[in-house]
Amino acid sequence: MLDPLRFAEMKASGRLPLPTGLSLELIEQLKRPDVSLPELCRLIQRDPALVGRLLQMANAAVYARPRPAAAITPDVLMMLGLPAVRNVELAFSLIDTHRKGASQRFDYDAFWLRSFAEASAAQAIGAAVRMVPALEMFTLGLLAELGQLALASWSPESYDAMAETLGPNAEAYQWLEAERATFGFDHTELAASLAADWGLPKLFQEALRWHALPKANWPFPPDERVGRLTAALALAHRLADTFFLDDAARVEALAGLQSRASALGIGEWLQLADAALKGWQEWSASFALDPPPRISFTELLARNGQKSSGLLVLVVDDDASTRQLTAGVLGKAGHTVQTAADGAQGLALVHDWLPDILVTDVLMPEINGIELIRRLRASAEGERVYIIVFTVLDAVESLVEAFAAGADDYVVKPLNAAVLLARIQAGVRLISLQQTLIEKNPALEEALRRAQEAALTDVLTGLRNRRYAIERLAQECASALRSDRPLSLLMIDIDHFKTINDRFGHAAGDSVLVEIARRLQATLRSSDIIARIGGEEFLVIAPDTPKAEAFKLAERLRQAVAARPVMVGQTALTVTISIGVADQAASGCQNTDQLLNAADAALYAAKAAGRNRVSF
Ligand code: GH3
Ligand code: MG
Ligand code: MG
Repeated sequence: MLDPLRFAEMKASGRLPLPTGLSLELIEQLKRPDVSLPELCRLIQRDPALVGRLLQMANAAVYARPRPAAAITPDVLMMLGLPAVRNVELAFSLIDTHRKGASQRFDYDAFWLRSFAEASAAQAIGAAVRMVPALEMFTLGLLAELGQLALASWSPESYDAMAETLGPNAEAYQWLEAERATFGFDHTELAASLAADWGLPKLFQEALRWHALPKANWPFPPDERVGRLTAALALAHRLADTFFLDDAARVEALAGLQSRASALGIGEWLQLADAALKGWQEWSASFALDPPPRISFTELLARNGQKSSGLLVLVVDDDASTRQLTAGVLGKAGHTVQTAADGAQGLALVHDWLPDILVTDVLMPEINGIELIRRLRASAEGERVYIIVFTVLDAVESLVEAFAAGADDYVVKPLNAAVLLARIQAGVRLISLQQTLIEKNPALEEALRRAQEAALTDVLTGLRNRRYAIERLAQECASALRSDRPLSLLMIDIDHFKTINDRFGHAAGDSVLVEIARRLQATLRSSDIIARIGGEEFLVIAPDTPKAEAFKLAERLRQAVAARPVMVGQTALTVTISIGVADQAASGCQNTDQLLNAADAALYAAKAAGRNRVSF
C-alpha cells in the first residue's frame, strides 16, 4: 500500500474521489459495533435511488426470496449484508459524481463501461466460486480499476502527459510502469489505499492491490482465501477484457481463460461468461453508458463452427529477424503466434496467455533462455508448456544446460522451416497425449473427490463432519490472525434432546436432527461454514464476522429453530437450541482449542441460564 503520509496528503488535496454525504455517513455508521438496523433503514430511506438499487438487488435471483421485498427493512439489510449495502452505495455514489472530470485524456464513460464489465464478470464468478457474497464481488469488480480514475482526478496534468507519451496502444503493464515512474506508485496501490480508507475489509484491499499483477508477484500463496479471491478478481479482469474484443478474437480469448476458471473450480465457463456479458449490457445501459452490441459467446461459438486446430505458440528471441521468420512459418501452418523480445517479457506472456508451445532462444540479455525455462518449470502455468530451444550448432554445452533446466526439444539455427514444423508436430503428439490423460482423469478425479468428500461429510444430515470442522477452523483461525480479520465461532446444542429420543424413539430423534440441520443451513450466509460435530451439537465458523454480527447471526439461527414446531409424525414438537458464541479477538485465540473452549463455555452458560438463548 501507499505510504500513509503520502496518502493523507493526497486526500487532503480534495482531489481524490472520496465518498460524500450519505455514503460517508453509512461508512461511519457501519464502523460502529453497536450500529442500529432501524436507524440504518431510516438513513437509507433518505435516498430513493439507493432504496431502488438495494431492492433491485434484494429481489435478484441470487437471493431467491419467497416474496419480493418492497421496502428497506432490517430483514432486507441483514439479507444483503451490511458491508454489501455500504459498498453498493459507495460504488454508485462514485459513479454519480465522476461521470466527468478535469483530465483531457481520461475517457470517463469508457472507464465506467469497463468497470461495469469487470463488476458483472466478478459477480458471475463470485456466484460460482462462492467465497464472498456475489453482491460484494460486484462492488469489488466495480472498484477494481478505480485507482486509474483517482490518478486522473488527483493530477490531471501529469496523467494527461503520461497518457500522451504512452499513446493509445500501450499494454497494461506499460501503464503500470509509467504510473510508477510518474507518481512513484501505481493505480493498484492507490486503489488499495482508498479501499482501506473506506473501511473495506483487508481481504478486499489485497485483492484490489494484486489482481492486475502477475501471480508471481503476489505476497501470499494462491491457495489461501486471499489468493483465491485475488485469482477470482483477476479472472474477472480478464473476462471483462474479452467483452471489448471483436467477435473474431472473443471466443479464442475466452477459451484461453478456461484453465484459470477450472483452477477456481468453475465448471460451466461458457454459461458464466454469457451471464456476465448480459449483466454488463444491462447494468451499463441502466447508467446510460453505451455498451457495444455483442452476441453471446454461445451463439458466436455456434457461428464459428468448431475450434481451429492450431496451437498457441510463443516465440522468444532478442533477434527481430528470427522472431519474424519463425512467427511467419508458424502462422502459415495455422498456429496462433505471439512473440517476445526478451526473457522477462516471455515469462510474463506465458503466465498471461498460457501458450501450448514455447520456442525460445538461449542467449538473450537479462533473463536468458535457460533462466526463462528454469523459472517456468518452477510454476504451475509453466510446467505444462512444451519448450523448444533454438541453438547454434557448436553450442552443445548450453544445450545440455537447457535440457537440464527442463527443455523438451531443440532446433538448430539458422532456422529451417520444415525442421521447425516437424519438431512442433512431435510436440503436438505429446500435448495431445497429455490432453487425453487429462480428459480421462476427470472420472478418476471425480471418484477421488467423492471419496474425500465422504470422509468429511456427516451421513445423517449431509453437513460437514467434526473432522472437517476442526481442520477448517485451524485454517480460518490462522488466516484471520495473519490478516487481522475478525472470526467468530458458534457452538450450538439442541435443548433436552434426550427427552425427544425417550418419548418418540431414536428414529424420530434422527429426523429432528435432519430438520434442525436443514433450518440452520438455510439461515446461514454463504460464507459461513456449518458442521455437525457431535450427536446433537453443531459448530458454525463465521469468517470475517465480528462479535456483534456473530451475535445477530446466532439469534437468527435460534429463531429459525424455535419459530416453528418440528413435525414428528403427526406431533408438532417445539424444539429449541442454545448457542455459545466466541470471537477471536475476545478469546485472544492463538490456537483453535482456545476458541473452541470459549464457545463451549458460552454454550454452557446459555444452558445454565435456562436454554433457548444465545450467550457469550
Ligand atoms: P441439554 O443439551 O439441553 O442439556 O439436554 P440434552 O438432553 O440434549 O442433553 P445431552 O446433550 O446430554 O444429550 C444428548 C442426547 O442426544 C444423548 C443421545 O442419546 C442423543 N443423541 C446423540 N446422537 C444422536 C443421534 O445421532 N441420533 C439420535 N436420535 N440421538 C442422538
Ligand atoms: Mg443437548
Ligand atoms: Mg449435547
